[in-house]
Amino acid sequence: MTAFRLIVVGGGMAGLVAAHRLAMLGLRPLLLEASSALGGAVARHRVAGIELDAGAESFATARPAVSQLLAELGLGEDIVAPAPLGSWLRHAGGTDPAPRTALLGIPGRLGDPDVRRIIGGPGVLRARLDTVLPPRIAAPTLGALVRRRMGTRVLERLVEPVVGGVHSADPSLLEVDAVVPGLTAALGSAGSLAGAVRALRGGRTAPGAAVAGIRGGMAELPLALAAAIIGNGGEIRCGTAVSALEQTPTGWVLWGGGERLTADAVLLALPAAPTRALLAPVLGGSALPAAAEPATPVTLATLVIDDARLDAAPRGTGLLVSPRVTEIGAKALTHATAKWPWLAASLPPGRHVLRLSYGRGGFDSVISTSVPPDGALPSAALLDAGALLGIELREQDVRGSAVVHWPGSLPQAREGHTAAVARLRGAAASFPGLAVAGSALAGNGLAAVVADSEAQVTALVDRIRH
Ligand SMILES: Cc1cc2nc3c(=O)[nH]c(=O)nc-3n(C[C@H](O)[C@H](O)[C@H](O)COP(=O)(O)OP(=O)(O)OC[C@H]3O[C@@H](n4cnc5c(N)ncnc54)[C@H](O)[C@@H]3O)c2cc1C
Repeated sequence: MTAFRLIVVGGGMAGLVAAHRLAMLGLRPLLLEASSALGGAVARHRVAGIELDAGAESFATARPAVSQLLAELGLGEDIVAPAPLGSWLRHAGGTDPAPRTALLGIPGRLGDPDVRRIIGGPGVLRARLDTVLPPRIAAPTLGALVRRRMGTRVLERLVEPVVGGVHSADPSLLEVDAVVPGLTAALGSAGSLAGAVRALRGGRTAPGAAVAGIRGGMAELPLALAAAIIGNGGEIRCGTAVSALEQTPTGWVLWGGGERLTADAVLLALPAAPTRALLAPVLGGSALPAAAEPATPVTLATLVIDDARLDAAPRGTGLLVSPRVTEIGAKALTHATAKWPWLAASLPPGRHVLRLSYGRGGFDSVISTSVPPDGALPSAALLDAGALLGIELREQDVRGSAVVHWPGSLPQAREGHTAAVARLRGAAASFPGLAVAGSALAGNGLAAVVADSEAQVTALVDRIRH
């Protein structure tokens, strides 16, 4: 096996985790990344002299994969919980703390005051139908499921802001089990959607308990993975975009960075569009629907502001914004210095970091999905931030700003996604030396991507060895 040449294409989290696992097995993988930096949507930038996450800034803790990986890489001591301030929702009826027992906005306890405050008495009455409807009253998309079981108020005021913020997409487009794995089965066993949410949340009801971060930022993770890959005999080449993949009688040929590379086995860990482009000649078009799903382009505007009024964290760790609130362009605001005490402690008193994200897929009948142009964005973001936080923020207090684009890193797992992924993976598995990973198949979020990449490596190595 040691003479075996394994190439991983894509140096985002999926590719890095795959290469790390392969290197740990002594398989000395070669990792090829198109850009000059590793990590993909887990990236770092410097704003007003502060090193900040430019993409993902936390991970879900419901599944243990990311925490275990961090512990293995020696970063276990640096795992941090967000400040227990909770987040808020800006919905058509106002601005309120987000319900504490919800999952992607779906409430677990319909009678709680934080649910009633947002959906009102009639909304609660309608939502309670969920507890008497038989579990077979379900639907293939998350939006349709919530509407059928809990009604329009729950969908529009609780679920749309959260799913529009986290997945950048209309829940009415997204497949239930692709975005909340296990929800359909839990509905069957719990008998209601609220019961299913409680079962999947387990005992986690404290604000912020569902996510964690890393002291120093999530961008510590790709750095640690790259060091481990190289330390275990792997090789990494940045600035190498792979433009073609071809099967040969003995393995694979890849064209990357003007070079022809040969491999015995290949693992693709790319966004949907390049996955499709590379696999189409190998698998044929019919096996590709999962990888063809659209990704929502997302733009992140970061503001560093000196304003002591923000010390009070007026909206907790941040807000998710309903697409029905048409006067606000942002889909979400993270008050990073309120959320992460380590970050606040590293800055002078009164200095704050706000992250506003823009870009939603779907909701076409509700909102315009256009994002302000880059030149106008810092000012537009400042206005949005002031409106969301209830403080008139001033241009002269802004110490720095940055705009980052993520065109392909948030795919939409639409209806039919799970079956399409199974078809694609089935087709790829008929080649002993081919595997496909990444969020276009695994779903959004580091927890899903890390666990899936590890599983794909296990399956690939198993196929190679037999
Ligand atoms: C703004 C933003 C914020 C997010 N926040 C969170 C969060 O807080 N928590 C969370 O859990 N998740 C978050 N996510 C989602 C999470 O970051 C992603 O699900 C995950 O990082 C995707 O990893 P990936 O490796 O599948 O894809 P990517 O990160 O997209 O990596 C793919 C890599 O492939 C490379 N590539 C592309 N084409 C080629 C080619 N032809 N040849 C070689 N290389 C190529 C790209 O340059 C890139 O480095 C966020 C995403 C975004 C965009």
